[in-house]
Amino acid sequence: MAVEQTLILLKPDTLQRGLIGPVIARLEARGLQMVGLKMLKLDKAKCDEHYAHLVGKSFYPGLVSFMTSSPIVALVVSGPEAVKVVRDMCGPTNARNAMPGTIRGDYSLSTQYNVIHASDSLETAQKEVARFFKKDELFVWERTLDKLTAAADEKK
Ligand code: UDP
Ligand code: MG
Repeated sequence: MAVEQTLILLKPDTLQRGLIGPVIARLEARGLQMVGLKMLKLDKAKCDEHYAHLVGKSFYPGLVSFMTSSPIVALVVSGPEAVKVVRDMCGPTNARNAMPGTIRGDYSLSTQYNVIHASDSLETAQKEVARFFKKDELFVWERTLDKLTAAADEKK
């Protein structure tokens, strides 16, 4: 079981609807660790790079105008088999086919306005993490709070 990093984008609809907190809360509650977190605005060039496999599709101009319409939140999370775990949490692209309990299944009825992007393979994840985050924007940290709390609270 490998610990992996994966890239997540909370799309403009998530920001517009005030759902950034609830979506991040689900990722944290699952046990995934926040490694990178920032807000940014996509431009067309970055969108073309990120969605290169879709340039030329009839829905692509609409996708670009959606993805560049408002800021997005980019996250890198880490955990065991995180790439698959997060994809499974998202549910399928068309949110109407997504099961309740998944992020898309609970928050969207749309194929385009489907709340969240997540890397679809380990290879893609490595490219996508590097696309959105510099090395010094990623923080590999340990869960030390329990130990620190015990040590601090022993002191009178
Ligand atoms: N998309 C769309 N119409 C489609 C298929 C995809 O608007 O028919 C959008 C949707 O926002 C989707 C994104 O393009 O999340 C990327 O498509 P992909 O097939 O990579 O789906 P995903 O990996 O996001 O599930
Ligand atoms: Mg995809």
